Amino acid sequence: MSSFQLGLVIGIAVAGSVALLAFALRLLKPSGAWAAFALGSVVFGLGGLQWSVALITFFLLSSLLSKLSPQRGRKERERTEMIFEKGSTRDAGQVWANGGVAGIIVIIHHFHPDPSIFIAYLGALAAAAADTWGTEIGVMSGGRTISLLTLRRVEVGRSGGVSAMGSLGAVAGAASVAASAAWWSDDPLRTILPVVAGTAGMLADSLLGATLQAGYRCRRCGMRTERSIHCGDPAEPVTGFRWMNNDLVNLLCCATGGGIAWLLAACF
Ligand SMILES: [Zn+2]
Repeated sequence: MSSFQLGLVIGIAVAGSVALLAFALRLLKPSGAWAAFALGSVVFGLGGLQWSVALITFFLLSSLLSKLSPQRGRKERERTEMIFEKGSTRDAGQVWANGGVAGIIVIIHHFHPDPSIFIAYLGALAAAAADTWGTEIGVMSGGRTISLLTLRRVEVGRSGGVSAMGSLGAVAGAASVAASAAWWSDDPLRTILPVVAGTAGMLADSLLGATLQAGYRCRRCGMRTERSIHCGDPAEPVTGFRWMNNDLVNLLCCATGGGIAWLLAACF
């Protein structure tokens, strides 16, 4: 067995264990666990340790944050879960939306090894982390939230809404992914690039959330929501495009983070 084949086998075994554990801890739904197994096999098997640590850092910290936030109060949590399209137990769509771009970058790097591509990978994951942390910390702290587009005040948790604490949380999330790779980097500037790119990805996410993302109003309770079904009935579409759902917005957020990180890495 070659060292490449050995790495692949170890990667698949580790990915299977992580996916199973995450399913047991209710971080992932069954479809999410299968997706995580596939994504993890690619990243752990083709990328190796450096790439794996970044993915696990993103996944563990973001999942923990999502599971911690219910402690703010069940009522508040139930209210925000009624607004968001998806809950804190991730399905396959969410796994691919947050990790799919990173997975594609690992495959590109496998065929065209280049240090800038690793920075792009970190940028894609940093964007996913920035979005998750920004949302969770923004909702948890519940401070003044404004629309990035109109600069008018909107309710906490609205797509495209930004708050001071949420933005700080987003930068911290991007920094957590960048920090996980700092051990392997001897250039502090290149360590910071994914933080900048990840934050930019999160801003793109908020802009899309405020413009093109599908937004609905419940015909029964009147709540503004990302869900197309609310209170058991189809909700009335009020903003954006119906096909521009939360997963697609997150995917574009990661693509923006990865693309900007790659551009920055090519320049610096
Ligand atoms: Zn409703």
